[in-house]
Amino acid sequence: MTAHATIVPRPGIMDIAPYVGGSSHIDGANRVIKLSANENPFGPSASAVDAYRDHAEHLGLYPEAQEEVAATIAQVHGLEPGRIVLGAGSDEIISLLCQAYAGPGDEVLYSEHGFLMYKLSSMAAGATPVTAPERNLTADVDQLIAAMNDRTRLVFVANPNNPTGTMIGKAELTRLADALPPQAMLVIDAAYAEYLKPAEDDGAKELVATRDNVLMTRTFSKIYGLAALRLGWAYVPEHVAAVYHRVRGPFNVTAPALAAGVAAMRDQAYVDRCRVTNEVWRDWLTREILAAGLGVVPSKGNFVLVQAGDRVADLDAHLKSRGLIARRVDAYGLAGYLRISVGDEEACRLVADAITTFGA
Ligand code: PMP
Repeated sequence: MTAHATIVPRPGIMDIAPYVGGSSHIDGANRVIKLSANENPFGPSASAVDAYRDHAEHLGLYPEAQEEVAATIAQVHGLEPGRIVLGAGSDEIISLLCQAYAGPGDEVLYSEHGFLMYKLSSMAAGATPVTAPERNLTADVDQLIAAMNDRTRLVFVANPNNPTGTMIGKAELTRLADALPPQAMLVIDAAYAEYLKPAEDDGAKELVATRDNVLMTRTFSKIYGLAALRLGWAYVPEHVAAVYHRVRGPFNVTAPALAAGVAAMRDQAYVDRCRVTNEVWRDWLTREILAAGLGVVPSKGNFVLVQAGDRVADLDAHLKSRGLIARRVDAYGLAGYLRISVGDEEACRLVADAITTFGA
């Protein structure tokens, strides 16, 4: 029994289909490779691990203020530290933005196959999630603009998007920002931005720097390899920072996460190496999948989206039989697709081999 006769949550809460994370287990298999959550196969920089371990001496103390991480991020990215806010993963930032800016009667807009948390967080806030159709599995700015109205409070665009791996360029992102109604903000979710080549930069930072209705969220969970610690950040207009600090928990980010985050941010050479390695193996895997006769969406992130149509369950089972855990993306309206994270060389070779034998 899950429902109570008289004690009930706010309307809409029980309509939420809970988020299911990428699985890490296959019945009967003792060695598995988890490629279902877009984690960095190499984990974090060694200096981040050291900082985390060092913090074990201080677990009795509450976390200190978040200024050091904000200052380090600001220095590395050339941003104003006072406009950087932190969260327990960017998931928490997405959730708090919805809580603070969208409620019953308000709309939260995102594209058809956009990241699932926009839907779940807007519903949790009592707002109405609204989707705009995509074109070629890519956010369509015309459709997003057409879906805006005087109830729209937040517009989320993951750039690149999960699970499609596609993105829109600087001109399109700017056109979207230009079209915002006065009561709405654009949230550019840049969880995978570190995987982009410099020439692929979408100008999100400049948009946030120069406007009062655009913000950008980032994460330490992907290229920084710190998913376990739950650390995300956002670059926001000053008035949004003032709101955010009122709705976040005083100690919403743990002290070990702050310590590891500073060290990870300082080690940009590690980030560069991970980006290059990801690019090499992502592009290799893409070619192998195509050669095996399956479709694949060209990805800008650390994962590929394989088009398997009505063979998707078989492909998923075939990979599992070899200890490889991918991610079904039915919840994103992509029933015939399988998302596979780009692992290390061994993992990519095993995936390619499995898909080649499957395709044959
Ligand atoms: N945005 C996107 C597009 C993501 O794919 C993810 C992770 N699945 C997140 C945000 C949230 O990541 P985290 O909470 O770990 O920062």
